[in-house]
Amino acid sequence: MHELSVTQSVLDIALVHAERAGANRILRIHLVVGELSGIVSESVQFYFDFVSRNTPAEGAELVFLHTPTRFRCRACGTVYEPGEGDEATPRPDWGCPLCGELRPEVVGGRELLVESIEVG
Ligand SMILES: [Zn+2]
Repeated sequence: MHELSVTQSVLDIALVHAERAGANRILRIHLVVGELSGIVSESVQFYFDFVSRNTPAEGAELVFLHTPTRFRCRACGTVYEPGEGDEATPRPDWGCPLCGELRPEVVGGRELLVESIEVG
């Protein structure tokens, strides 16, 4: 059910912007979805087709841009993606590639944003 509420918010945002732009129809909505957001693209499109019925966004296509997980090391401040670093040094994927610290802060990958909409 997570995707349903998310999809409803996406639709609301798109409709507000379309109305402000004086557009009659929304053709496409570009979304930025983080790897860690837990959002399944197919489910969002499925729910969107349902919630957008009888709105100017009916039939709009959702375009997903997936962004990777990003960590920031609490010890040295390095920002990195999991799995980066020296393959010769065994360490968990989430460890800091510079100092090996294992409790990074998540700084990217949880986002879900409406990047832009195309109207017609
Ligand atoms: Zn570090």
